[in-house]
Amino acid sequence: MIGDTRQVQHDHHPLLSSALVWFRRDLRADDHAALSHALQAARQVWCAFVFDRAILDGLPRADRRVEFIRDSLVDLDAQLRSLGLAHGVAGVGLIVRHGDVQALLPALAVQLGVQAVYANHDDEPNALSRDAQVRGRLAEAGIALHCGKDHVVFERSELLTATGSPYSVFTPYKNAWLRKITPETVKPWPVARHASALAAVPAPAPVPTLAEIGFEPTNLHQLKLPTGSTGAHELLDDFLDRIDDYGQTRDFPAVKGPSYLSTHLRFGTVSIRKLAREAWQRMQAGSRGAEVWLSELIWRDFYHQILHHHPRVASHCFKPAYDAIKWEQGPHADALFSAWCEGRTGYPLVDAAMLQIAQTGYMHNRLRMVVASFLTKDLGLDWRRGEAYFATHLNDFDLAANNGGWQWAASTGCDAQPYFRIFNPVAQSERFDAAGRFIRRYLPQLAGLPDKQIHAPWLARPIELAAAGLVLGRDYPEPVVAHDVARTRTLARYAVVKAG
Ligand SMILES: Cc1cc2nc3c(=O)[nH]c(=O)nc-3n(C[C@H](O)[C@H](O)[C@H](O)COP(=O)(O)OP(=O)(O)OC[C@H]3O[C@@H](n4cnc5c(N)ncnc54)[C@H](O)[C@@H]3O)c2cc1C
Repeated sequence: MIGDTRQVQHDHHPLLSSALVWFRRDLRADDHAALSHALQAARQVWCAFVFDRAILDGLPRADRRVEFIRDSLVDLDAQLRSLGLAHGVAGVGLIVRHGDVQALLPALAVQLGVQAVYANHDDEPNALSRDAQVRGRLAEAGIALHCGKDHVVFERSELLTATGSPYSVFTPYKNAWLRKITPETVKPWPVARHASALAAVPAPAPVPTLAEIGFEPTNLHQLKLPTGSTGAHELLDDFLDRIDDYGQTRDFPAVKGPSYLSTHLRFGTVSIRKLAREAWQRMQAGSRGAEVWLSELIWRDFYHQILHHHPRVASHCFKPAYDAIKWEQGPHADALFSAWCEGRTGYPLVDAAMLQIAQTGYMHNRLRMVVASFLTKDLGLDWRRGEAYFATHLNDFDLAANNGGWQWAASTGCDAQPYFRIFNPVAQSERFDAAGRFIRRYLPQLAGLPDKQIHAPWLARPIELAAAGLVLGRDYPEPVVAHDVARTRTLARYAVVKAG
């Protein structure tokens, strides 16, 4: 195993004749831990990615993430090729396979005759069991699997409390994180300087098309989400011009405030060290926006270490007492869930947000909190239903962050919102989309309402509805629940926790 420290370097005397780098959620060729290690350890290095049928079979045939990955692999392939060429090696590229990864990856390693496979940690429970199986099969062939940190700044048990236990409260975690960061911990892993070890692909083939792996095109290219490392750097450059304002702009969904880098972070088309470095340097130079943004990157590390230490959160409440909560069930609950998914709750901000995720695969962070709170505390539905819906629809779906976000909103998580703090969806709308710009983008049928009435159309006077050409119940639904009633019911529902 590659350790967590920076001491593992094989700079001058490669020990192995050949190695394979197995790319997974790290689709870039710069500042890449496993690639850097392999290039320093071996005289010949190949790079591979496997489209895992076990994952792909569970997805709809049109899935933006599959298209994002596929396009990013084309970018990665091109980067590897030019890295090779810059070091006098022609024919370098990415080997792409499609099928059962547990069988295909070891078979490829055997076919290439490598002595070791290098990969970066993936701490999701399914990925860990996949890696354990691949490790076993490689071992049978006498091939080692070396895995190490790449995806986060501090992983697993790198940050523990004074008593040696994992953190479950964010602020002390963040303080410890900020104490531990040094230029060394966010230094890029060198790739280009060792790239002469890249080897030509024995049987070069282009990255398979979407159709070849059984998928259909989506609207990905109509979205403002450029793919691959090239796309990540475009987004980053754009964001760095705005980062100083992030603290003021991040909460308003109609404003271009956040970085929109989450899908790139998810698939590793940008290095977390690069982002942390950029933010940390600006923060030290006095940028408040950069400081707030760095905090968000720390939340990401925080939730990853929570999932690592408490894998049970994938299906249970972080706080066990909350498993006693009785969520609404039955046909009425199912109908409410459909209304939520389809943007038909009658609460414009909630509905506009749900249309945003359906049409683009993205949802603004403020809106994720609003719709998650609405599902659990206005509709009384189990947070796992919403979590699963997000998991299918978000381009940036990440088990650790999604689970953390849902459990935060449902008050079942570590360091969560207290259960008696219940977002009022109308007040949230008035505060964060005051002029209704975001709502109008997704719900044009409400466009004619005055700004003041757009947050709660059922409170508009008949004359205002008529002037807007709007008939409630025909053009836009009446609210599916009354917030005040739901609030009382929620407080009673959560009372089992106090009683327990
Ligand atoms: C219910 C719910 C579900 C969520 N599901 C996901 C998910 O599946 N994947 C995901 O990446 N984020 C998730 N988030 C966190 C957050 O909403 C998104 O990361 C953010 O909206 C992505 O947009 P951005 O890249 O423009 O963010 P920015 O505001 O630019 O933030 C920069 C990066 O910091 C990280 N980040 C920001 N906020 C959080 C957070 N609260 N927790 C963990 N990491 C964070 C992300 O990697 C993000 O790209 C969820 C939040 C909630 C409340």
